[in-house]
Amino acid sequence: MPFFGVPMSLGTDYIYCLTSNSFLGFKCPFNYLVGFIKDYIQSACFYDIIKYMQDTVDITIVGAGVVGLAVAAQVASRNRQVYVLERHETFGRETSSRHSGVIHSGIYYPEGSLKAKLCVAGNDSLYQLFQMSSIGYRRLGKLIVATGDEEAVELEILLERGNRNSVCGLRMLSRQELKKIEPNIEGVAAILSPSTGIVDSHALMKYFVARAKSQAAQIAYLTEVTGIGKVADGYQVEVKDSDGVFSFATRVLINCAGLGSDKLAEMAGIDLDSAGYRLHYCKGEYFSVAGGKNRLVNRLIFPVPPPEVTGVGIHVVLDLDSRMRLGPSIQYVESIDYVVNDEHKQLFYDSVKGFLPFIDYDDLEPEMAGIRPKLQAPGEDIRDFVIRDEGDKGLPGFINLIGIESPGLTAAPAIAGYVGAVVDEILNG
Ligand SMILES: Cc1cc2nc3c(=O)[nH]c(=O)nc-3n(C[C@H](O)[C@H](O)[C@H](O)COP(=O)(O)OP(=O)(O)OC[C@H]3O[C@@H](n4cnc5c(N)ncnc54)[C@H](O)[C@@H]3O)c2cc1C
Repeated sequence: MPFFGVPMSLGTDYIYCLTSNSFLGFKCPFNYLVGFIKDYIQSACFYDIIKYMQDTVDITIVGAGVVGLAVAAQVASRNRQVYVLERHETFGRETSSRHSGVIHSGIYYPEGSLKAKLCVAGNDSLYQLFQMSSIGYRRLGKLIVATGDEEAVELEILLERGNRNSVCGLRMLSRQELKKIEPNIEGVAAILSPSTGIVDSHALMKYFVARAKSQAAQIAYLTEVTGIGKVADGYQVEVKDSDGVFSFATRVLINCAGLGSDKLAEMAGIDLDSAGYRLHYCKGEYFSVAGGKNRLVNRLIFPVPPPEVTGVGIHVVLDLDSRMRLGPSIQYVESIDYVVNDEHKQLFYDSVKGFLPFIDYDDLEPEMAGIRPKLQAPGEDIRDFVIRDEGDKGLPGFINLIGIESPGLTAAPAIAGYVGAVVDEILNG
């Protein structure tokens, strides 16, 4: 029986080593000793992968972001060998830690799209999950605020779309109703979305990790997929880790590689341009808001989205400690970097001053940035998530998840259910 070691993040005081027939869990207070033992266990376990992994494993998932982990938790079961491969030293090091943390309700997305359906279903699943777990969340509700008559017309269209998407509880508020619940917000009308909330995404990912592991799924960190070849009953996956390059075979290969998902599809031989799978990086910056201004709002406050629907507009984000920030902006970029440009402060201030009159320019400080893996090129129409088995491209059992931008965090449990059904059909059907 093949196995992976599962090194946890550096500096942790727990090390777990899974072996084919035993489980060791021990506590060590000395970081240097942890590092030494971890390196030893890691290389020992990876050596064993190479040594033992001669059978075809059942399911391999590339990427330990919130989506890959939710999928792992969904498809794992004691009679399946399930592996998650992640290039970083722990989970959630890319987009799944660089977002607004909003549990979206599903208003914005075209009717019938995967984005709409999986967002609405994911929103519901998350709140159910919170009842059974200790994951931090707050169902704050959100307002989409129109600052003039033209935007008020846009709000009507948005409300209709939200209702068609089966978003629950949406309600149009007059200026007076808005003033009553948010006296510090300026607007002529607003949509109230009561099912919007915020979540501790790290805790959510930890929950999925624990659930996947409880069903014997194994996660290999510092393990990068560098090649994919089609073989008779699945895929030969080439992997690079600190010990070098090796490969193994898997029956089902699930691409949850986020910003790297188009490259992974290309490795499997898919032509990105004819498939429409080429990703465009779209940076979103955040500025924190100081001066105790967080006490002046009770909910998440959004503008009416810009007509090009590239994003939902720079909005007020509150976290579970009630810290306030503004973002994310929208800027297509050629390469990935997370630097926030201080010169964008004016743009942030100008975007929100209409509906957040209490914000002063000097309240804003550069905070963090994330990168959206967008299928939509600049100037193009909105694109849906790609979630599909590539059987019609001659690659049955290769399941691509590409363009999982917002609302990917919200939709993660529903995406997992969707992928789980595809996997069941492949393995059992
Ligand atoms: C600015 C911003 C704001 C957002 N706000 C929200 C929000 O408020 N609400 C919401 O619902 N969604 C939001 N999103 C979207 C949400 O964050 C993403 O949809 C979600 O995190 C995507 O998760 P993922 O697992 O697909 O990708 P990731 O978190 O990027 O995980 C992919 C993983 O794959 C790994 N990987 C890649 N290539 C390889 C390889 N070759 N080998 C091994 N590992 C590999 C990467 O290291 C990474 O860890 C936002 C996104 C951005 C950028």
